[in-house]
Amino acid sequence: MIISKLYGSMVFDDKTMQEWLPKEIYREMKRCIANDLPLDLDTANVIANAMKEWAVDKGVTHFTHWFQPLTGITAEKHDSFISPAKGGGVLMEFNGKELIKGEPDASSFPSGGLRATFEARGYTAWDPTSYAFIKDGILCIPTAFCSYNGESLDKKTPLLRSMEVLNRQGLRVLRLFGRKTERLSAVVGPEQEYFLVDTGVFEKREDLFFTGRTLFGARPPKGQELNDHYFGAIKPRVVAYMKELDEELWKLGILAKTKHNEVAPAQHELAPIYTTVNVAVDQNQLTMETMKKVAAKHGMTCLLHEKPFEYLNGSGKHNNWSLSTNFGHNLFNPGKSPQDNAQFLLMLAAVIEGVDKYQDLLRISVAHASNDHRLGANEAPPAIISMYLGDEITGILQAIADGRTYSTRAKCDVKIGVHVLPTFAMDSADRNRTSPFAFTGNKFEFRMPGSSQSIADVNMVLNTIMAEEFKLFADELEKADDLNEGVAKIIKRVMQEHGRIIFNGNNYSKDWEHEAERRGLLNLKTTIDALERLCDEKNVKLLTSMGVMTEVELRSRQEISVEKYCKEISLEATTMLDIATKSIIPAVLNYKKDLTMSAAKAIEAGISTHVEIAMANRLEALVKSACQMVDNLKTELEKAHEFGNGFEGGKYYASKVIPAMDDLREVCDELETSTAKSYWPMPSYADVLFSVH
Ligand code: ADP
Ligand code: MG
Repeated sequence: MIISKLYGSMVFDDKTMQEWLPKEIYREMKRCIANDLPLDLDTANVIANAMKEWAVDKGVTHFTHWFQPLTGITAEKHDSFISPAKGGGVLMEFNGKELIKGEPDASSFPSGGLRATFEARGYTAWDPTSYAFIKDGILCIPTAFCSYNGESLDKKTPLLRSMEVLNRQGLRVLRLFGRKTERLSAVVGPEQEYFLVDTGVFEKREDLFFTGRTLFGARPPKGQELNDHYFGAIKPRVVAYMKELDEELWKLGILAKTKHNEVAPAQHELAPIYTTVNVAVDQNQLTMETMKKVAAKHGMTCLLHEKPFEYLNGSGKHNNWSLSTNFGHNLFNPGKSPQDNAQFLLMLAAVIEGVDKYQDLLRISVAHASNDHRLGANEAPPAIISMYLGDEITGILQAIADGRTYSTRAKCDVKIGVHVLPTFAMDSADRNRTSPFAFTGNKFEFRMPGSSQSIADVNMVLNTIMAEEFKLFADELEKADDLNEGVAKIIKRVMQEHGRIIFNGNNYSKDWEHEAERRGLLNLKTTIDALERLCDEKNVKLLTSMGVMTEVELRSRQEISVEKYCKEISLEATTMLDIATKSIIPAVLNYKKDLTMSAAKAIEAGISTHVEIAMANRLEALVKSACQMVDNLKTELEKAHEFGNGFEGGKYYASKVIPAMDDLREVCDELETSTAKSYWPMPSYADVLFSVH
């Protein structure tokens, strides 16, 4: 099929709407969206009917409100268009009410105590700024999900609220620069990393199957040491997969653009072209789902876990982020005129101050059990938030702050509103790959998010902290006699008070950890350390004053996240115990028994048996140790269960259960290297990592 025809063929996008909607209805809808106004029921009825006609034309029989509960994945409940016709038979119907609002039973979604179980009703509300689409023969309507009292029960509602406040406060600042912008929004392009393994092999690994990561596994003979996978030639089976994946994503209107092999064997990456943040969030969820589905068709399993394999890089999701006006003007683009430059530098000041003030919120937005394996493990940034601006931009900002001349190779002045910035080499700003939050020429790249997580929270936080900065700046600048002097004053203050967040060096080095501590930057190593700060007074104040979340909503999210952490570690520990006691230990005993029996036969035949006996003794000692580690983990897990799934439990999991899991793994991995392959009860790392040819 011709790609231009394929692209967006399953999306009720702008082009399709113009085709299927009466002109005045289309115009009315656009007007309502642009001004955040609700649609009246008559208009909604016409839209719903057109949507249905379009979908039925493509063989669709059902619709669903598609939403993003706090589980972090998406949810749907299918209803058919069928309704009984008067004279018998059925009609295919879909009305405005059904389009705008749904009432799924919400009782089994996490609510963190927001909704007592007897009050199980929740409702979904259409987000007309994200297009409806057809997936698996179902018309999906992107929606927000709330409790009956209007508290958000999903990841989308706070994100939409944060977009709203960012727009409002951002426009105040842009007006001061004489801009006629009507709408300001974050735009995001998430780079998605993933692993592909053969499903036959995957299914033989209970750990991968239940937890998404390997809980056991000795180091394979070959890993990523030779750097021969990164950007390497893609294997035919993976090529076929990537081709189909691209096509499926294009049908859904997702601009999948770049694909390549990543650092670890079996690891790959996909990047779409950036788009408005709420659409980017929805599309990333769809991308993850499609990746898994297409993999299954090719006999492969797509692993989105942050750390499927020890000894190898895990997977992240770089959140490429910038702010864009409705005229496509990127606010992080250094401009060509003095006035543009003043605005650009002010934008940087907003990011510097916001990121420093809310290091904790950014860290929390990526905090979950599996991401703890990546952060600080020399494959992703440490758990310390800092910002990379490159030496040139840092130098310019510092010179402005110090009120002196900025000098580079060619000496030049930078006076706000008078001079144009010296052109700095884009490359020089892109070289630092170790920074968690790097300026890469005209956008920031937040590199901490994990591969499996929704990017809704991350971007909700970014929007909100920028909204607050814009509010503070606008309050100050609206009163200033001279805009340029006002901007210079802000830059000076920000550099003095928040310049500590800028770090252009190697974030993976041990020295940086010490230096960061000296600078007073936070280093929240585990998910639990991070989550404990979520409801700190300053964070509550930010989110409530910006109208993004109520304190009750925030507390409920904290509760849900801690509970999720506890449950995930508990599941991993339980799976480990199951594998160790039912598979590994019996397999090793079997091998030992055979060694001993062959030794006995050899003795009868007068053959030397030193080797068999030495090996059997070694296995005996290791198995004994494994049994002790099993008992130890069992005890720790029971204690953790007694503490419950709150912070007390969370801390116990982090400090006791995880180390007990590590101990058990260590001895079992040692056993793997000492046991004949034919006896080992599951595929080895090499079997899994090189399972796709
Ligand atoms: P990299 O050097 O990290 O590979 P790319 O230019 O390939 O950078 O971009 C990676 C991602 O960043 C893509 O998803 C791309 O669409 C997105 N991106 C590029 N420019 C912007 C921007 N101005 N704002 C947000 N995202 C952007
Ligand atoms: Mg990148």
